[in-house]
Amino acid sequence: MPQRLKPLFDRVVIKELEPDRVRRSGLLIPPGTHEPPPQHGIVLDVGPGTDWWESAGVSMPVKVGDHVVFPATAGVWIEVDEERLLVARVTEMLGVLEEVGECPACADRHLEDGEVCPECGRIANSKPLS
Ligand SMILES: [Zn+2]
Repeated sequence: MPQRLKPLFDRVVIKELEPDRVRRSGLLIPPGTHEPPPQHGIVLDVGPGTDWWESAGVSMPVKVGDHVVFPATAGVWIEVDEERLLVARVTEMLGVLEEVGECPACADRHLEDGEVCPECGRIANSKPLS
């Protein structure tokens, strides 16, 4: 019978994204670091939160399907139904990677060097990033 791991409290279940998919999304691992790079995954399931969350007005900040980034040391890897899954506290997540659409205010307009788009906050810079 298929099994499913239901996360408890503030834990989330994450399926790791294959590294080549991460690289295709344009994220580069900085050279010269010895620390294992952060990892990427997709949230498969979220716990209900902890008992004090509701009274404090806190709710689960990630939802199923979110693309999350987390440190390589986060959580515990387990195997469920021959699938390797990470169970981690949501507070261990570094963030949610969101797709940023083209900004309607500056996408088709040339900004002078140093000019800041009032809509998206993009700072125009014609020089390549160092
Ligand atoms: Zn903009």
